[in-house]
Amino acid sequence: MILTVTMNPSVDIGYRLETFLLDDVNRVTDVSKTAGGKGLNVARVIHDLGLEVGATGIIGGTLGNFITEKLAEQHLREYFFKINKESRNCIAILHEGKQTEILEKGPHISEEETAAFLEYFQQLLETENISVLTISGSLPKGMTADVYKRLISLANQKDIPVVLDTSGSVLIEVLEDSSLKIAAIKPNYDELSAIENKELSTNPSEWQEILETPRYNQIDWVITSLGAAGAFAKHKHDFYQVSIPSIEVVNPVGSGDATVAGIAVALNQALAPEELLRTAMTTGMLNTMEMTTGTVNKDLFHEYFNQVTIKKL
Ligand code: ATP
Repeated sequence: MILTVTMNPSVDIGYRLETFLLDDVNRVTDVSKTAGGKGLNVARVIHDLGLEVGATGIIGGTLGNFITEKLAEQHLREYFFKINKESRNCIAILHEGKQTEILEKGPHISEEETAAFLEYFQQLLETENISVLTISGSLPKGMTADVYKRLISLANQKDIPVVLDTSGSVLIEVLEDSSLKIAAIKPNYDELSAIENKELSTNPSEWQEILETPRYNQIDWVITSLGAAGAFAKHKHDFYQVSIPSIEVVNPVGSGDATVAGIAVALNQALAPEELLRTAMTTGMLNTMEMTTGTVNKDLFHEYFNQVTIKKL
């Protein structure tokens, strides 16, 4: 089973309004409430593709219970560590073609809770047969990059490939630890620029030199996703320019998570490099074609898989 990590999941509430009135009462008839978090998007896409997947992280309170109920409804196996604090709500108000978001930070995780979660996670790797681990998103308050480093190191001890999709200082700190082995990272252009602490050239072929620096040595795959322009990827010492067909996009949110799901699925099946890239691009594209974030239509997989073009540089 592929295991996805979401350390700070949420109940995502969507309110659709004709007009959003500030300093007044807004009555909502169109409400959606779903289990949210990047790792949960990854898990849903893997599930849609028909592979076994489990989701872990930390949840608590009545919102935590709501998240587990939603996952059960979707037949997603959950292995969340439960704490005595309330998980968070994230509200998106859709109005007049705009989206106004109100995001809670979520619970503060104490040192004791962190230690208990890590113990629990270690046990999970012992008792379940995990083929690939994905780690997505930011950490809750109270946790430092050390938590992700520990998860990766525990997976390394069991030879479980790790796909890491996080950003900012946490990603930089993890990459600084050369003892950790990472199967893949999937930054987008902004995230790669942030790692390098400079605005990169918009011509990806000029990134080869950067990606050959020691920072990326312990990572098998660096797949920089470029939205409609596909991706620029490094695998060991090989570089690939990946192009995708022009498609009708319904909702692109979560395409990065769907790409991570594709990478995990390809690692799970031990696919060859070009097949891995095709799979990752296809799951990203299929996600953009669905209204619901983190969903793909498996029936369209081969049609789009065959339209991805890869140029080895
Ligand atoms: P997000 O933060 O919304 O999850 P991201 O910035 O991490 O996304 P993107 O580079 O936007 O990731 O998208 C990931 C992949 O999804 C792309 O490499 C591509 O395969 C697919 N994709 C995204 N946007 C489009 C688009 N407009 N047309 C076709 N494919 C797309």
